[in-house]
Amino acid sequence: MVSDISELRQDFPVLERRVGDEPLTYLDNAATTQTPTQVYEVYEEFYEGYNANVHRGIHALSHEASIAYEEAHDRLAEFVGASGGREEMVFTKNTTEGINIVAYGLRDQLGPGDEIVLTEMEHHASLVTWQQVAERTGAEVRYVRVDDDGRLDVEHAKELIGPDTAVVSVAHVSNVLGTVNPVETLAELAHDAGAYVLVDGAQSAPTRPVDVEAIDADFFAFSGHKMAGPTGIGGLYGKRHLLEELDPFCFGGEMISHVTFDDAKWNELPWKFEAGTPPIASGIALAAAADYLDEIGMERVREHEDELAQYALERLEARDDVETYGPPPGVERTGLVSFNVEGVHGHDLSSLLNDRGIAVRAGDHCTQPLHDVLDLPGSVRASFYVYNTTEEVDRLLDALDGGPGHDGVAEQVEEYLASDRYHDRIYEHHRNPHNEGGLDDPTLRKHSEETTCGDEGEFHVDVADGTIERIAFESQSCAVSRAVASILSEYLEGRTLEEAASLDGEVAAMLEGTFPDLRRDCVVGPEEVISEAAREYLDGERAAVAGDD
Ligand code: PLP
Repeated sequence: MVSDISELRQDFPVLERRVGDEPLTYLDNAATTQTPTQVYEVYEEFYEGYNANVHRGIHALSHEASIAYEEAHDRLAEFVGASGGREEMVFTKNTTEGINIVAYGLRDQLGPGDEIVLTEMEHHASLVTWQQVAERTGAEVRYVRVDDDGRLDVEHAKELIGPDTAVVSVAHVSNVLGTVNPVETLAELAHDAGAYVLVDGAQSAPTRPVDVEAIDADFFAFSGHKMAGPTGIGGLYGKRHLLEELDPFCFGGEMISHVTFDDAKWNELPWKFEAGTPPIASGIALAAAADYLDEIGMERVREHEDELAQYALERLEARDDVETYGPPPGVERTGLVSFNVEGVHGHDLSSLLNDRGIAVRAGDHCTQPLHDVLDLPGSVRASFYVYNTTEEVDRLLDALDGGPGHDGVAEQVEEYLASDRYHDRIYEHHRNPHNEGGLDDPTLRKHSEETTCGDEGEFHVDVADGTIERIAFESQSCAVSRAVASILSEYLEGRTLEEAASLDGEVAAMLEGTFPDLRRDCVVGPEEVISEAAREYLDGERAAVAGDD
C-alpha cells in the first residue's frame, strides 16, 4: 500500500474540495484520475517559458519546446518498457485513437476469411473499432468468453486463435470486472498463429508496471488522463518495424518528409503518425505524469490498487443486498469493484452517493455487450487510485448503510426522491406510476437503451386517426426516468402523434426545473424516445402514402 498517502494527497488540491456540504470522495478513477500539481505546473512552465511550435523553428523557444516534446516520447516509451525510445512511441489523443490508428493501418491486410479475436470484456473503444474494420473488409470478429468468475476463458482463446486469426485485440485489464488478463499467453497464441496482437492498456498502464517487450505486444495503447496526466493525450507503442509498415491515419504537416505536387513521403517515426501541430504542453505533461508515478513506484501502485479493491470487495460482499462482479476475493484485480444493490437502479444510487460527496460511475461503462453477457442493464463502479484510502472505501460503505437510523439503500433512495430537490410530481409518479405495463398488439412500440446510465425501457402506443388512444411503458430505468415516462404517458393520451413528434422540453417545463441538473438526461430522455418513435411512424405513413400514389 502507498504508505504516505496524506502527504501524497497534498499533491492533488482537488481532493480537498467539497461537494455541497460533504468532503469529496473521488472513486471514479477508472474513468479519469486526478492530476497532481507536478503535472499541471508543466502548463504554466511551458506557456510562461517556452511556448512555441515544435520541429519547425530555428529559434530558442521552438528548440526548447521540440526537445521537451520529443524527450517526452522517450520517457513514455521507457514507462511502458519499450527499449526503442521515441520511434516506438506515438502520441495520440487517447487509447481510442491508438486503437483506431492500428485498426486503420491493418485494414488493407484483412479480408474475407480472416478473423479478429477480441474478448467479451472489451471496451467499445476496441469492440466498435474492430467491428467497423470487419464490416469494411469482410473479416469476422470472434469473442473469447468470460467465465462465471469474470476471468477470461483461456481454453476458449486457444480454440478461437488459429490459422485464420489475423489480429488479437485484448484489454490488459477489464474496466468493469477489474480482471487482469493473461496477455503474455494471448500474445504467444497470437504470434504462433501469425497474428498481430494489440493490447488495450487503458486500465493497466496507470495501475501496474507494464513491460510491452515482456508481454511481446505488437501494439499497446493507453490514455494520459487515466494515469495522473492531462486529458487529450495518450500513447501508442508499436514495434518499430510494424509502425514502419503501418499506413498513417491522418495526413498533413509534420507527418511528411518531402512533398511535391504529385506525391509525399512520410516522415520518420513516430512523427509520421502525428499530423499537424501536436498537443505539445500535454505531451510534456504526460511525461511529468510518468515521472510522478515512477517516483511512487508502479509496483506500489499495483499493490495499493489490489489492496483497496480487495477491501472494498470484502465489505461489499458482506452485505446481503449487494452483488459484485469480477474475480472472487483473493484473486488479483485492479483497483475497482462493480456492483449492484438489490432493487436500486445504479443511476439512483450514484445520485444518492453524489449527495454524500461520493463520485462513482453507473451505467455500462462502455461495455454494453459485456453487460449483456452478465445479463445486467448496468452496474455501479467504484474505482480507486494512489490517493484513495480505506477510509474512503468505508465512507462508500457507510453511505450504503445509511445515516444514524441505518436505513437500507432503497429507503434512502426513497427519501432522496421525496426531498425538495425534486418536483412533487416526480415523487408521486415514482410511488404510483400510471400506465406501467404493456399493450397487446400496439400500433407502435419503441425500445430504448441508454448506454451511459444503463436505462432500458419500451413504450407501447395505440393510435387511432392520428391520435394516441392508449400508451403504456415497461421500464428497467432509474426512478426519475420511470416517473417521467409515467408523467409523459398521462400527458400524451388523447394528443396527436404530431404533438408527440414535436415534444421539446414539455416535461421539464411541467416540472418547473425542480430536479438536480445532474438528472436532466433522465427527464428529457423518455421524451426523446417517444418523439423519435412518433416521427418514425409518421415518416413511415407518409412514405406509404407516397408509395400508393
Ligand atoms: N479501453 C478501456 C479498457 C477503457 O477503460 C477505456 C476508457 O475507459 C478505453 C479503452 C478508452 O479510453 P479513452 O476514452 O481515453 O480513449
